Amino acid sequence: MTPIADESQTATIHPPLQQFLEACHARFATDNAGKVADYIPELGKANPDLFGISLATIDGHLYEVGDTEVPFTIQSMSKPFAFALALDSLGAAAIEAVIGVEPSGDAFNSIRLNADNKPFNAMVNAGAITCSGLIVGAKGEWAFDFIRQGLSRFAGRELGVDEAVYASERATGDRNRAIGYLLRNSAVLRGDVGGVLDVYFRQCSILVTARDVAVMAATLANRGINPLTGEQVVAPYAVARTLSVMTTAGMYDFAGEWIYRVGIPAKSGVGGGILAALPSQFGFGSFSPRLDQHGNSVRGIQVCEVLSAHFDLHMLNRNGNSRTSVIADYDIGRGASRRSRRADEHTILRQHHGDVRVIELVGSLSFATIDYITRQVAGKALPQILIVDFRRVADVSSAAARLLADGLRELERFNITTVLSGLARSSLTWEAISQWTDGMTRVRNFVVLDEAIEWAEDQIVYRYGGRVDHGGEMPLAEQALLAGLSPDDLAAITGLGTVKKFTPGEVMIRAGEPGSSLFLIQNGQVSVRLPSGVRLAALTGGMVVGEMALLGDKRAADAIADTDVACLEIPVDRFRQFADQHPQVGKQMMQNLAGLLAGRLMRANVKVDLLSSD
Ligand code: GLN
Repeated sequence: MTPIADESQTATIHPPLQQFLEACHARFATDNAGKVADYIPELGKANPDLFGISLATIDGHLYEVGDTEVPFTIQSMSKPFAFALALDSLGAAAIEAVIGVEPSGDAFNSIRLNADNKPFNAMVNAGAITCSGLIVGAKGEWAFDFIRQGLSRFAGRELGVDEAVYASERATGDRNRAIGYLLRNSAVLRGDVGGVLDVYFRQCSILVTARDVAVMAATLANRGINPLTGEQVVAPYAVARTLSVMTTAGMYDFAGEWIYRVGIPAKSGVGGGILAALPSQFGFGSFSPRLDQHGNSVRGIQVCEVLSAHFDLHMLNRNGNSRTSVIADYDIGRGASRRSRRADEHTILRQHHGDVRVIELVGSLSFATIDYITRQVAGKALPQILIVDFRRVADVSSAAARLLADGLRELERFNITTVLSGLARSSLTWEAISQWTDGMTRVRNFVVLDEAIEWAEDQIVYRYGGRVDHGGEMPLAEQALLAGLSPDDLAAITGLGTVKKFTPGEVMIRAGEPGSSLFLIQNGQVSVRLPSGVRLAALTGGMVVGEMALLGDKRAADAIADTDVACLEIPVDRFRQFADQHPQVGKQMMQNLAGLLAGRLMRANVKVDLLSSD
């Protein structure tokens, strides 16, 4: 790819989806088929030529073409949201007791109930009026505000009401009144029918733009989280049920045809809006007031059809590759922790490197990806400790989480310890896992992968009779930087420095400052961290920190005492003087330094390679 040279060039880059929507707009703007709804007199005043298309991605980007900021009444597109809010706040049982979930095959305003004398579903008027009635029953005089505020949270802004349209429908809505009394007759609706209808008419008169509709749809596509505000508006459970009913009944007597051809859950309104939500992808909103015989916007339907066909977006035509979720799979032979270790620890870890296996995951985890991983684990020699890293995982489906928990149980049966790291960055919480791993003793949770690997290495060292140095005293002669020096030279070097102590949390070295001395750690533990917080190394007695100062460089990272630390601080200028007088010692130490740096680079390369190899 050619790099982008300057600003003027970036300005010309036009996302293809924007271009596509613009082309759709141009193509259908000239189609004047259909008729503006006028059974509500005020709606008949709408400008039939208005046409806006908006699409909101689940990462919060808005595409907009045409009249996307012109307000119009939401009408039946309020139904899925009122239904979702009712499910979420009143519970499924209360809703399911009075509203069905079967498509009716009838028009939206059909005066017909199912065999149980209940509305067919919440997308036709009878079901929606019942739903408003349930909300009135629960919230009393606050019912309308509850609905308006709920819809506002879906839209990510405060929504108002078109009082004229409300008054107009209230004055003429006898058909809906007939439905209301029929519902009360079958005991589905209780109390004051007029009051419930007022709430329903008001809810239909809430003002939205095509942009709002796209964001509201995107919130449904995003499992209830508004992609602009980040708010979880309703629980995923309520969203899935709402999308189900939109799928089977959102387009009334056109629903079957719609899902067959377009394959995206949708809802229309007689104000001219169409709302479509493709789960995990985007929300779509359009506004064009001319309607077909079903009461659906003609141009809006056309745009959805072309959009779905061109990109093959049908929700039942999906593919997935479960293997791409494993970004790295290695043992500690290739991917050791950043903890610097002494020779005897190294020996044990080299011999038993296969005992700790690390699997790093990426992306969204589905049922299929976790299943693939469980077979990857079962198919190779079993480790003593399995570390599964989630820091690059955004999303874990509940099916995946359940299968993972079953996998952990199986590993426990084989006495394998499983460590989960980086969960905090994914949608899966340790609390959610814990409800399934109750009573299991071999499942652990680490925030940072490197610390999980370090812990696992420690376990291996212990199991094979080794001793882990967590900061014990270390004779100067074992300093890698001083290797090969005679006892006299060591004594002379010691004489150059002064002993310095640090308390836990104390900053020994700060990135960016000039390096004027180096520290030979005698005991304690020191973490070297980038300002971003990433840990580069954990050092203990016998190791050196700040050695880059010998090369005259600025401090490249922070060094922080993790425990009480004692070290020998040697000022660089004193070391230089000494090296001038004892060129052999100077040369030896520079060689040692080169060896340390080369080793570090090699380990870093291996780490990079872990991620890039197939
Ligand atoms: N308020 C309208 C009605 O009840 C909503 C109908 C619709 O948008 N399909 O008639």
